[in-house]
Amino acid sequence: MAVEATTTQTETGPVLIACHACDALLSEPPAGAARTRCPRCGSVLTTERPGALDGVLATTLTTIVLLSAGVFLPFVNIEASGRRQYASVLDAVIAAGGEAWPLALAVGAMVVALPLTRAAALLWVLAPMRLERPPLPFARAAFRLAIELRPWSMVEIFVIGVIVALVKISGLAIVGLGAAFWLFLALAIVVFCEDAALCRRSIWRRLA
Ligand SMILES: [Zn+2]
Repeated sequence: MAVEATTTQTETGPVLIACHACDALLSEPPAGAARTRCPRCGSVLTTERPGALDGVLATTLTTIVLLSAGVFLPFVNIEASGRRQYASVLDAVIAAGGEAWPLALAVGAMVVALPLTRAAALLWVLAPMRLERPPLPFARAAFRLAIELRPWSMVEIFVIGVIVALVKISGLAIVGLGAAFWLFLALAIVVFCEDAALCRRSIWRRLA
């Protein structure tokens, strides 16, 4: 996974970057360099690869499609006493909106709103880059937002939490997985692939 490192222009010319992990001062890898690592601690500095931009854009668009559909489709169905109930993520957030509104707000934000905002910000930055156009206004702010939102977008933790909850209630009712569960599972994998393909240094360099 690529990371942002601090860049310093020295008086003599070469650009130095600080390793995000150990603060070692290193000369900036040349543009187009493939994966480079810090010689001191081994952390990955850049993962620039041909076609990486296409990969990140594809995963960003996939995120938007999967999230938009996943919110409304049935997530689980629960059958107890002969009654079958379907629930989507949106139903769950609305249903928890009474006493448990902080939980509903947190789930709505971290599972839906933040990942969608992050995908939109990435699209704002990367689409002009792919089309070889100049960056859109506030592209740097949008990219910074996308980086800062990443730790707060918790699709994968949500999926794991749901699996644990379903195992716990499986003794009380017959639980089935709906289409949205598989969409969210796919989304967790897509977000992982996006992280692997996104080289922050090369994006910052192109936004400079
Ligand atoms: Zn290092």
